[in-house]
Amino acid sequence: MTDADKSGGLNAEAHIFSDPLSGREVVFAPARAKRPGSYDARLELEAPSEIETCPFCEGREQETPPELFALGARKGRSPDTPGWKVRVVPNLYPALEQQQVVVHTPTHTRSLADVSDQQLVLVAEAWTETAERAWAQGFDHLLAVINEGKASGASLPHSHSQLVWLERVPPEVATETPRLRRDDCALCALLRDLDPALKLAERKLGDCTVSLAVAPTGRAPYEMLIAPEDHLPDAFGSYELLAVSLALAAEGVRRLNAVEGASPFNLWLHNFQGDGHWHLELVPRLNIYASVELGGGIFINTLLPEKAAARLSGASS
Ligand SMILES: [Zn+2]
Ligand SMILES: [Zn+2]
Ligand SMILES: [Zn+2]
Repeated sequence: MTDADKSGGLNAEAHIFSDPLSGREVVFAPARAKRPGSYDARLELEAPSEIETCPFCEGREQETPPELFALGARKGRSPDTPGWKVRVVPNLYPALEQQQVVVHTPTHTRSLADVSDQQLVLVAEAWTETAERAWAQGFDHLLAVINEGKASGASLPHSHSQLVWLERVPPEVATETPRLRRDDCALCALLRDLDPALKLAERKLGDCTVSLAVAPTGRAPYEMLIAPEDHLPDAFGSYELLAVSLALAAEGVRRLNAVEGASPFNLWLHNFQGDGHWHLELVPRLNIYASVELGGGIFINTLLPEKAAARLSGASS
């Protein structure tokens, strides 16, 4: 490309990045950037009847399928009665063979942003306990996800996660696996070489540090990555570390909401039973993916990561 080409036109080539974890192509197009608060999607306001009809609130245990287990339960409590802190029930409409819902709080909490660190320890325990049950039944993968807001595909506003049991590793994880091998791990390298300006927070557990950072090649505005700095494949191996990561994710959502208002998002765990480097990906759903993204596999991100990080760093958590 000549200098003349570089100075004029779209000059898309200069802005195409390949995400080191997934190989996904991302184009940064800051000329199309929006001001804070001007994105399309918002978290829905609370509907007047929402609390009266919410099947996840304590006291309405009969409105879900019978629970699989509950954590933090009062002594002598019977299943499907009040007196629990975190509750795990089958999904009423599973897309796949086994799909379970982890209800994050007994009271009507609408966002991960408002779930306490203490509750998140129980959520992490529920994920870990479910993983052990899935392995015992011969399943190979547990896909743990949180959807918030209609734009993310969530159907109920009470904070919860979904645990999908899979008989084999899903394609996104399979794509990442060869890139995250111990001897040449793209995530270890990403964290080691990370621009300090992109790092939003970290928490330590023993001698392990978990980081919350703006993804350097995220597909969406404000996309964040949460990962242990140590090369650890299996998040279900330590619920404490997983709890720290969920707490950092909640902090990321609080910062996002402080900048953009209550925002829809998807969050998922990429976990590895063999070699790999587990992480959480937090993808805000402020914009709508169009044909270039879905048909071409090229994601256009209108917000440069440095700019996203500057806004999120300045926000209260
Ligand atoms: Zn509720
Ligand atoms: Zn690694
Ligand atoms: Zn990933």
